[in-house]
Amino acid sequence: MGLGAAAIAAARLEAIAGGETPLRKAPGKDASAGARMHIVTLSFDDGFRKSNIKIAELYEKYGLIACFNIIATADRSDFAIPNETLKGFGDWALWRELAARGHEIMPHGYKHINLTKVPFDEAKELTLKCLDVFDKELPGFKRERAVYNFPYNASTPELEAWLPTVVRAFRTGWGAINPLPTKKTVKITTHAIGPENCERDLDKWIDELLKLPSGWLVYNTHGLDDEGWGPIGSVYLDKLLDRLIGIPTVRVMPTGRTLDMP
Ligand SMILES: [Zn+2]
Repeated sequence: MGLGAAAIAAARLEAIAGGETPLRKAPGKDASAGARMHIVTLSFDDGFRKSNIKIAELYEKYGLIACFNIIATADRSDFAIPNETLKGFGDWALWRELAARGHEIMPHGYKHINLTKVPFDEAKELTLKCLDVFDKELPGFKRERAVYNFPYNASTPELEAWLPTVVRAFRTGWGAINPLPTKKTVKITTHAIGPENCERDLDKWIDELLKLPSGWLVYNTHGLDDEGWGPIGSVYLDKLLDRLIGIPTVRVMPTGRTLDMP
């Protein structure tokens, strides 16, 4: 990255520190972009310590805000690991630090339970307990502004009807490309693939997005390198962000900030 790019990155970080995304600071500034807009959200689930520290650094290198979805109780000693890819979690001290640096920290379940496999009342209770932990642990968290990211991207019509009475929106399966959000958007769909490295699949979806006049790709990522289900490489992420910010119609944004756009 040359000096010019470094200056742009610094300006973007200032915008982030001021609570604004670069996009909101200068909507539609690029005349060549016209009405075309391609938003790319890499929605990083689960909260791996090593990966998320690196992801935050890479996003900051390009003046971007990362999107982290955290399991509320994963840092507790009695947390039962649901499967072998779910380990190596960060803690609330780290999530508070990353939030203070401008990144988005959103809920991804109380204990990472598949809410379609428990009774509706229990699913509601687990969701509310998750939000209670966020209230307690994350300064500035507002559930009415939050995007709830379903564990396993698994939801039911009942849960989908209830959740917008509690949070702003939810992310569930399945569909990688969403329309650009409106003020009424409450359901965001995503796509994920694993357990192996998902870079080729992600590249394919970015190509699909760019073929459209406009759209919002919400791609569900997890960890970096050998961490988490369906990882991407840290070198790949660095190159991807570098490439994406060079495309005039593309904005790399987290989910909640994207919902602020309309
Ligand atoms: Zn997960």
